[in-house]
Amino acid sequence: MTDIPITLPSTSVATPSGSDHALLTLTNIESAYGPVKAIRGVSLEVKKGQIVTLLGSNGAGKTTLLKTISGIMDPVRGSIEFANEDITGVESSDIVKKGISHVPEGREVFPLLTVYENLMMGAYTRKDRDGVARDLEQAYRYFPILKERESQAAGLLSGGQQQMLAIARALLADPQMILMDEPSLGLSPKLTKEIFAIIRMINRDSGRSILLVEQNARIALQTADFGYIMENGRIVMQDTCARLMQKDDIQEFYLGIKQEGVRAERRWKKKKTWR
Ligand code: ATP
Repeated sequence: MTDIPITLPSTSVATPSGSDHALLTLTNIESAYGPVKAIRGVSLEVKKGQIVTLLGSNGAGKTTLLKTISGIMDPVRGSIEFANEDITGVESSDIVKKGISHVPEGREVFPLLTVYENLMMGAYTRKDRDGVARDLEQAYRYFPILKERESQAAGLLSGGQQQMLAIARALLADPQMILMDEPSLGLSPKLTKEIFAIIRMINRDSGRSILLVEQNARIALQTADFGYIMENGRIVMQDTCARLMQKDDIQEFYLGIKQEGVRAERRWKKKKTWR
């Protein structure tokens, strides 16, 4: 079995392929809840048109990282660049205007508003009415059930339909990049497949970049181009998804494929090179 390379920014480590320049670049980000450091020096990038996945066990810091990018939390250290602009510490409403939409964990739709009103909340920063109408039609093409239910209260939708609504609402902001936090949470395997097929379509049709946090590592690695593995607030591995799926530790700890012999701990833990 081959050794797992450890990942910190270094010339020998793979970086996301795709178009030439990174659309989003995080450099040494640290974020904390009061005294609790949740992100401990994360650097990553997402190129234009890419799907990048961020995997990690519970509490690794994935949600916190997405919140830091979307301006819900300010980083304690480090910088975030988006479309060649420093957006570190920018307010979340301005982050949306700059082209980043966040589909939060647990959907967070407005249950008392109708489906249509929820969708329009996604477009609240926009002035281009024709563009909004076009994007609404496109969102309904991806999720026809939302058109059927457009005048119903969002709280009456099933979990899967609420997830569709949360993604469609993000599209109504016409983003260049979508941050998705656990889109499969609470969904059946069949619905998860359907949602991921649409995520791929959204990426292909419009070239929107997607940063995808997901517990279902198999579907995430099959969907994304590039992946980062996070543990205890740090990136411990990064590579193309095709290569990640070949790695013993990923197979064992994320894909549930048993290796011969028993290993009690992840190999990358034995090779810590981070500070
Ligand atoms: P999960 O898959 O369970 O959502 P995660 O990788 O998204 O996990 P985070 O939710 O980002 O992890 O949490 C990272 C760390 O920050 C954890 O140790 C968690 O306990 C802590 N944390 C998260 N939210 C808060 C909060 N509001 N206040 C204090 N600590 C928090």
